[in-house]
Amino acid sequence: MKNPSPLPFIPLSVPNFAGREREYVTDAVVSEWVSTGGAKVGEFEQAIARYAGVDAAVACASGTAGLHLAMLVAGVGAGDEVLVPALTFIAAVNPVRYVGAQPVFFGCDDSLCLSAAALETFCKQHCATQGGTPVNKTTGRCVRAVVVMHTFGNLADIPPIMETARRYGLRVIEDATEALGSRYLAGPYAGKMAGTIGDVGVYSFNGNKIITTGSGGMLLSPHSGWAARAKHLSTQAKTDEVQYTHDEVGYNYRMTNLQAALGLAQLEQLEGFITRKEAMYRRYFNALDGKRGLRVLPFAENARPNRWFYSLFLPDSYPLGRDALIGHLQANGIQSRPVWALVNEQPPYAGCEAYALGKAKNYRAHVVNLPCSTNLSDDDIDRVCGIILSV
Ligand SMILES: *Cc1c(COP(=O)(O)O)cnc(C)c1O
Repeated sequence: MKNPSPLPFIPLSVPNFAGREREYVTDAVVSEWVSTGGAKVGEFEQAIARYAGVDAAVACASGTAGLHLAMLVAGVGAGDEVLVPALTFIAAVNPVRYVGAQPVFFGCDDSLCLSAAALETFCKQHCATQGGTPVNKTTGRCVRAVVVMHTFGNLADIPPIMETARRYGLRVIEDATEALGSRYLAGPYAGKMAGTIGDVGVYSFNGNKIITTGSGGMLLSPHSGWAARAKHLSTQAKTDEVQYTHDEVGYNYRMTNLQAALGLAQLEQLEGFITRKEAMYRRYFNALDGKRGLRVLPFAENARPNRWFYSLFLPDSYPLGRDALIGHLQANGIQSRPVWALVNEQPPYAGCEAYALGKAKNYRAHVVNLPCSTNLSDDDIDRVCGIILSV
């Protein structure tokens, strides 16, 4: 990105390779195990499973691939409906279409995550259980699953979402791609990590996430069999290594040893990154929240969020609108961005049903994400805040 400022460029979210990345990646290269066969893939799976407190994790080529596998193992098929957030990165929704299903969109609450109230209202009005299958009475289609996304590392209001989903027989797919390390500290899921509560959860290790493997993802499931099936599907559904026999249409979705090497080094630093994210959040909050009507949006209380992305909410009284502030920061060598355009407003999803979008539209219109890389200095953050306050 171009830097018009004489001062160093401040990116939005870039990797922090302060650990043993070079050592582990070199090990992989020297061993000549660079593709999906090396030992580090299994090591990384075990390390993530241990960190998240689950039995099994399946390493994937990307978070999107993991979400596609999640749809398949959750039994989402052609003609089903899947309830999804409207305010999200589009990769949370595209896998619904990969399996031939139809998304139904919902707005958010003040955590920017799926509104539990809107989900309950929809189910009450439209869903009935017929022969053990949840059916949308209006469309006649099976409502197979709900996708819950933990936006920016904030935790979704999962207890009522799980309660509604269980009552209506919906499977819960957690898009925890932004929330590795975010943990509930109270309520029925106290001590549990994002991604480990629903029927299947997915993390991402894309370059901008809290830890990265360049590209990569991880699928978790409490159901014995689901993780194993996801791994099978991710490796071309091969049933015999020697004879090359296959029992399903599989995918080339397995993580490589090179990616896993990077991941192992990154995971060693994750708790340190989260501690740094907390300190950076506090610095932004103390400098900006309440000044000139600005708000630095809070994270869930009684939780330990990973605080991956920070959200600045601009009041109408602030002299610059969202895009003008982003342009002004860019002119000063600082990268920021708006929160996503609603997915139901994108051409592939035009005409899909959408409910309770009021808050999602409001946050979309007023939120700017601020630089959050863990290798930013306090001085960098003060520079960003100074520019925002001097407008
Ligand atoms: C990053 C992300 C994904 C996709 O992960 P990739 O690893 O980039 O494929 C999916 N959903 C959300 C909400 C994300 O932020």
